[in-house]
Amino acid sequence: CFCELKGNVDECECSVDLVDKFNNYRVYPRLKSLLSKNYFRFFKVNLRKPCPFWPDDGGCASSACTVESCTEANVPREIFLNIKNKSNLFGPVNNPKLSSESQDAGKCSEGSDEELGYLNTTLTKEISADLALWKLHDDSQHSFCDVDDDNNNDSVFVDLLLNPERYTGYKGSSAQRIWKTIYEENCFKPKRGYGPYIDSTNVGDLCLEKRAFYRAISGLHASINIHLCAQYLHSHGVPGLQRWGLNHEEFQARFDPERTHGEGPKWLRNLYFLYLLELRAIAKAAPYLEQLPFYTGNETEDAEVNIAVHDLLNQIKSFQPHFNESSMFTGGSKQARKLKEEFRHHFRNITRIMDCVGCDKCKVWGKLQTQGLGTALKILFSGSFDKANPTAFDLKSMKRSRFQLTRNEVVALFNAFGRLSNSVYSLELFQQATLN
Ligand code: FAD
Repeated sequence: CFCELKGNVDECECSVDLVDKFNNYRVYPRLKSLLSKNYFRFFKVNLRKPCPFWPDDGGCASSACTVESCTEANVPREIFLNIKNKSNLFGPVNNPKLSSESQDAGKCSEGSDEELGYLNTTLTKEISADLALWKLHDDSQHSFCDVDDDNNNDSVFVDLLLNPERYTGYKGSSAQRIWKTIYEENCFKPKRGYGPYIDSTNVGDLCLEKRAFYRAISGLHASINIHLCAQYLHSHGVPGLQRWGLNHEEFQARFDPERTHGEGPKWLRNLYFLYLLELRAIAKAAPYLEQLPFYTGNETEDAEVNIAVHDLLNQIKSFQPHFNESSMFTGGSKQARKLKEEFRHHFRNITRIMDCVGCDKCKVWGKLQTQGLGTALKILFSGSFDKANPTAFDLKSMKRSRFQLTRNEVVALFNAFGRLSNSVYSLELFQQATLN
């Protein structure tokens, strides 16, 4: 089976096999359980931001991409309020009235998960002046993402559990235009090149930083496409007989070397590269992440989440880091600084292109995953998490620090990594099914 990749992950001293074992047995089960908790399942996103690059091209008309909103009461009040005044990083809001208002939390529009295409969102009406203050804390100069404005009335909470990333049928010119723009205009290009976008053989001509950029985007693209193959809607042409499951034919068509001019397995390897990059970012930020209370107002669940986060971070820290960010943008020269700035600019552009995605469900996951990757890049390259001494992240310095992560960034970081973990796990499922 070509999906049984061998050897080392490109640019990293680590075998694919080692990542498989580490992920499938130690990370994937823990993350799966953690990401089902309320703190991680609600992601705030603006789906109505206009595309800054071209007029709306209609995108996907399929019901698979439809948006359905659920009521405000379905999102834990504390998550609303903590978003509003930023105290989620440091503990409960001092307002005892709130807990009783959270009874419906986490029960967003039941049942719609089974139907293809309904996206559950909660329109947030509250606009907070405090948010503006919070924004000041977010050092935009170090941000790799063009993040949505929480103040905007169009920003909604999406319940990620009820809207899993899977096959939606979004394809054709709209989807291709997005990927084409990302690769042709926003990935650093090798001098020579042929094929639809960038041919991996020419990626070797690029410097390390540019290769890493391309591999990260290609890894993300591979992960998205693995999910649509792993969670495919088999209709059998008979209404009522629909079921979700692996689609081997779709997977072969997208990754088989013979059908992709030898590129498919390289794209799969890029998934492993991105996995190691985000893993390293989480390990690096672990001393900071360990101190977050992950507050939602439900004492029992918050305690469980804290234990589960520590357990996951301990696993992650125990894995020898294989992505070495200190080898990138070295020297402190003007040229290195310029390259880093270019890198950041290109990535920010990619987060903006997500506003052009024509399928809302794909947009939610595209935005979440690019924001998660952007958060990982911020951790790796902004310099604010470089302190070797973990005690530097004590609560006081966190409060003072201008480099806190917002709740949405933390949610995006963990969920984005969760997607990669799920993709690596899905590859094993495809592999096993082929061998049987
Ligand atoms: P595409 O995946 O559109 O790729 C276009 C070209 O890029 C290929 O022909 C190939 O030359 C090259 N390429 C392919 N993979 C890679 C790679 N890993 N690295 C480098 N180059 C590559 N569809 C869903 O069903 N569900 C979703 O949740 C979903 N989310 C999406 C999110 C975003 C942000 C985007 C842009 C698209 C999403 N799609 C989703 C659509 C999906 O990714 C494909 O675009 C679609 O299925 C059409 O596939 P395709 O065969 O035309 O090739």
